[in-house]
Amino acid sequence: MITGIDPFDHASFVVAHDETNAFEAVVPPIVQTSLFTFETYDEMVATYRGEKTRPVYSRGLNPTVRHFEDMLAKLEGGEDALAFGSGMAAISSTVITFIEPGDRIVAVKHLYPDAFRLFGTLLKRMKVDVTYVDGTDLEAVEKAMPGAKLFYMESPTSWIMEPHDVAALSVIAKKHGAVSVIDNSWASPIFQRPLSLGVDLVLHSASKYLGGHSDVVAGVVTGSKDLIDRIRGEALPYLGGKMSPFDAWLLIRGLRTLPIRMKAHEAAGLDIARRLQARPEVEKVNHPGLANQLPPGLSGTSGLFSFVFREGVDIRAFADKLQLFKLGVSWGGHESLIVPGQVVLQQKAQPNSAHAFGMHPRSVRLHVGLEGTEALWRDLEEAIDAARQP
Ligand SMILES: *Cc1c(COP(=O)(O)O)cnc(C)c1O
Repeated sequence: MITGIDPFDHASFVVAHDETNAFEAVVPPIVQTSLFTFETYDEMVATYRGEKTRPVYSRGLNPTVRHFEDMLAKLEGGEDALAFGSGMAAISSTVITFIEPGDRIVAVKHLYPDAFRLFGTLLKRMKVDVTYVDGTDLEAVEKAMPGAKLFYMESPTSWIMEPHDVAALSVIAKKHGAVSVIDNSWASPIFQRPLSLGVDLVLHSASKYLGGHSDVVAGVVTGSKDLIDRIRGEALPYLGGKMSPFDAWLLIRGLRTLPIRMKAHEAAGLDIARRLQARPEVEKVNHPGLANQLPPGLSGTSGLFSFVFREGVDIRAFADKLQLFKLGVSWGGHESLIVPGQVVLQQKAQPNSAHAFGMHPRSVRLHVGLEGTEALWRDLEEAIDAARQP
């Protein structure tokens, strides 16, 4: 199923020797500059005419950012990539490039909440309609697709962690001429390479596993040269959500350990998920790795999943008793985190996808970090024991 490079082949992460790299440094320098000067008038004219490609201004092209874009494109098997100042900038710039007022988007349910808000506010004002479908129901997707310009996917979906047959879904989108887009932040290219499954564009919140250290907010999109050229030409320079050189440098460093971090998150996440499933206080664990088999195209699982407590557990006491698991949004770094569903249901920002998609009020989302499974399990067990109501 996976074509191109072996994502577990660490040689893929070695930065290529490049004589323009200062002092042949093993780590590429951060080209921390806003503008680039021209030696001559003629060189400037040739660049403006598009006869020569070279950096002019870092909102368009910056060598450090380009380096990260090249690495990510190679990992996902894309022809080109574009990096943004956040995952949401990647999502908004990508979606806006391919739709016009009056167009319709089909999206799977349980979307990332801020993507849901973008669709339900700004895009709605631009007269773009979004039809939400159950991504596990291919017939329903087929029925919703005629006339849609764009098909927006996540697999597995946010919070509910419902995995889909991405290849089958992209066949339906293609048949109806819709551009297919997937948010691959959860699996990362280590466990899912959607371009090889027929998806047109793959985007990431690079703030999560790609960066891997909770020290950068960034995004990226990859795909064919034609589609990426459209985003580069129509949205990126004018919406202006470009990644900074320093963030690109942090991401280049993060990518070098991505395969081993993902394997560690997978092992610890599965172990914790199985132990939670065995606890009498737990009603249900939403983790794609607990099913008999993973859906086609998904070769592994990461450290983010959710579970539902039965009645009789005080979730507030559980959250406050935890020591290693911190209360916090985001995920993908070293640290373990929880978000209680009860909190998300009270979120002021609207529209609230937690209500729209029926989030269970006794659900909790976990990110299993790299602190060590035994210590993490002890932390969870102590908190569950302390939160049991008589
Ligand atoms: C965090 C996240 C985003 C948004 O990315 P930012 O970098 O925070 O803008 C998009 N999709 C998913 C699945 C996410 O978890």
